[in-house]
Amino acid sequence: MLREGSLFTQWALWAPDSDGALHRTGVKSWNRYDSRYTNITLTQARIGEIMAEYIREKCADMEIRRATIVEGLSVRDGEEYPVEVRTRNVRRTINGETTEAQASNGIRVDDDEDLLKTSIDTRTIHAKYVVACDGAHSWTRRQLDIAMVGDDTDVIWGVMDVLPDTDFPSTRALNSVLGAGFGLLLVPRERGLIRVYTTLAMTIQQRLKPYRFSYKTCEWWAAYQIGQRISTANIDSSGRVFLAGDAVHTHSPQAGQGINVGIQDVWNVMWRLNLVVKQSAKPDIPQTYSEERLKVAQDLVNFDRQFAAMASGQPTPQGLFGRQSWSIQHFFHRIGVMVAGLHVHSESSVLTCTSKEDLEVAQKALSSGKVPPGMVVGMRLKPATIYRHEDALKVEFTGHEAFQSDDRFRILLFVGNLRTADNMERLQHVASKLSVLLSRYVSKVFDIVILHTANPTDLGLSKPVARAQETLGSNTRIFFDGQLVDGKLVSSGAAYKTYHVDAEAGKLVLLRPDQYIAYVGELTNVETVER
Ligand SMILES: Cc1cc2nc3c(=O)[nH]c(=O)nc-3n(C[C@H](O)[C@H](O)[C@H](O)COP(=O)(O)OP(=O)(O)OC[C@H]3O[C@@H](n4cnc5c(N)ncnc54)[C@H](O)[C@@H]3O)c2cc1C
Repeated sequence: MLREGSLFTQWALWAPDSDGALHRTGVKSWNRYDSRYTNITLTQARIGEIMAEYIREKCADMEIRRATIVEGLSVRDGEEYPVEVRTRNVRRTINGETTEAQASNGIRVDDDEDLLKTSIDTRTIHAKYVVACDGAHSWTRRQLDIAMVGDDTDVIWGVMDVLPDTDFPSTRALNSVLGAGFGLLLVPRERGLIRVYTTLAMTIQQRLKPYRFSYKTCEWWAAYQIGQRISTANIDSSGRVFLAGDAVHTHSPQAGQGINVGIQDVWNVMWRLNLVVKQSAKPDIPQTYSEERLKVAQDLVNFDRQFAAMASGQPTPQGLFGRQSWSIQHFFHRIGVMVAGLHVHSESSVLTCTSKEDLEVAQKALSSGKVPPGMVVGMRLKPATIYRHEDALKVEFTGHEAFQSDDRFRILLFVGNLRTADNMERLQHVASKLSVLLSRYVSKVFDIVILHTANPTDLGLSKPVARAQETLGSNTRIFFDGQLVDGKLVSSGAAYKTYHVDAEAGKLVLLRPDQYIAYVGELTNVETVER
């Protein structure tokens, strides 16, 4: 995705003057918002293909079946595979060649209607769980009798992907053009394309005056009505069928959040189901998906009501954030934290140990487009650069080099400066306590990570470090919070500072498999981790 996508770093704001000529009124640079990555755009079709390629390459026992319609769903309590799903594969033969028909959203393509009636390639699947991502008109949601709550506005937008022919000077930035009662958004895309979003009231050429705007090719276009809807539930009453993506939340596309949040939904439910299916977690754990993701969906829909109104040049609805309206800068920062996947879960649960006060502080910061400092329980861990203890390999602490997506909970031990005898002794004490905990559980559930601040060169081939590794198992990984200065590795404490950890006191942190922080406490408080 990084190789193929179009990177953009600036947001330019434009407005017409009293003569109708366009002027740039400001330029903002996107911060990294505590993400290792910056914004890229890439067509949804390629994102889907890249994921499918990955599945084909890595998951030999998984099959992607195209043009397969789900048309029956029932749940029988008490069975090992309680969900029964009936599917029909839709194929047609033209001139002796078999092709797959397109199963459209809601299966309403006229061409396919006869085929749907006659096709007999059916299957019955018995499953432990089903995750339905069948879009805004979700068939599954209707079967479960789950309502969508919300409304449509009377604002119609047009959207097109074009190869531009223009003298508009800032095509590789994200451009917002705002006037009374209209909005226009130009989003840089891969292969030199631009996506143009516009309210349907004037032509794009009129809005971009004095600049010229036309296109060489138009790859895709559509028109849509803006609305915001959210489902009243995302799990059925049996706890076996889950809804994700547009089946749960729909909103305007301008903030670019639909696929992003949909993918996060699916990730959030899948690691839970995987642990349950592998019998490493209790069957009630997946229920925590409901509250966590409905809250994110509600935040998104609330935000979008304001953002969509602002982007259309309309007055923003009152009171959604307790204020009448927000400046465009506010939206800029809010989108920044959302794009970086910074959300906070609402309350303590079986997976998260936090206080209401801490969550409120974090939520307030995020709602005003700021990243809360330090570590917030219920939010994902921020990135930091650290070094591997044994060979000084530079590592992104929360990136996939250090923390693979392998469904393990991570226990992070911030043990401070290991040059002092007290800290070495403390490490050994924690290691002994943890080894007792590890012996009680399937070893593959936990990953133990130690982050210290003593320069490994000064530390020498320290026996206590090796002893801690021996106590906790050879897979225990040890890192050093340092930096390279003139080719020499020195102690920096930068990661400790990022996470607000006092090197003297140390800290113990429990991360969930999705890198959200479940617990932060005293270094020796292994009991709470277990609980
Ligand atoms: C103009 C526009 C621009 C957008 N831009 C962005 C953006 O920049 N960034 C972003 O993150 N999001 C964007 N979005 C939103 C994004 O497209 C959606 O949020 C996303 O596609 C939702 O994914 P989904 O898998 O939940 O649903 P869908 O993509 O709708 O997929 C649902 C699938 O289920 C299938 N299906 C339905 N019923 C059945 C059935 N009974 N049996 C079998 N299959 C069935 C459908 O055929 C479809 O393939 C945009 C949307 C629009 C309209």
